[in-house]
Amino acid sequence: MGLYTRLAPLIPKQSCVLCAEYSVFCVCESCEKSLQVNAHRCHSCATELNSGLHFCGSCLAHAPLFAKAYTLYDYSGYCANLIKRFKFDQQLCVGDFFAHKFYDKYQMLVADQGEYDAIIPLPLSPQRLRERGYNQTHELLRVIAKKTNVVVDQTSVERTKATRALSTLDLQERKTEIKNAFSAKPMTYNKVLLVDDVMTTGASLNELAKTVLKSGVKSCDVLVVARA
Ligand SMILES: [Zn+2]
Ligand SMILES: [Zn+2]
Repeated sequence: MGLYTRLAPLIPKQSCVLCAEYSVFCVCESCEKSLQVNAHRCHSCATELNSGLHFCGSCLAHAPLFAKAYTLYDYSGYCANLIKRFKFDQQLCVGDFFAHKFYDKYQMLVADQGEYDAIIPLPLSPQRLRERGYNQTHELLRVIAKKTNVVVDQTSVERTKATRALSTLDLQERKTEIKNAFSAKPMTYNKVLLVDDVMTTGASLNELAKTVLKSGVKSCDVLVVARA
């Protein structure tokens, strides 16, 4: 009898939050498959593209300051539902599921293109942090922090400006709202990975990229759970 077969009865099972089937994580394998859209993406900002194109119109017109963005899923349907449960209903089992998927994706990125010197989660304003009680992006990095040696740097960059909820704003308003929202200590990393839960226009992550590049970082990529 293999190790897994012997241990399987001991692994606590739970109901999938989407279909109520029993599962190791709170999202079962078959629901997970429905989250994965094998879309053709912009090589720069990870937005969905028609195949044949490498970059979206907006990156061609104005390239973002991060080198390349990666996403686990598209922000739609089941995935939007899971993100909502994680962010607003504080269902931490969903965060745990995403944290394991982030770890898998991180391993693939490192195998592909080498180690990052640090991972920097998008900082919340002190006010937002008080309201919510925790920075949900740190939850997403829990498994990476435990299983790898990469530095998860939560102190070098601060959110110095509380912004309005960006979801209510258009692209130009988001850019204005987020401008100079972060401040950073000098950093000596060559390459960092910036992390957030959802990337919509990319305005926040681009502003964070601007801040870290000004503070001594040589290049940065982006990893998110979902790309809207
Ligand atoms: Zn399910
Ligand atoms: Zn793009």
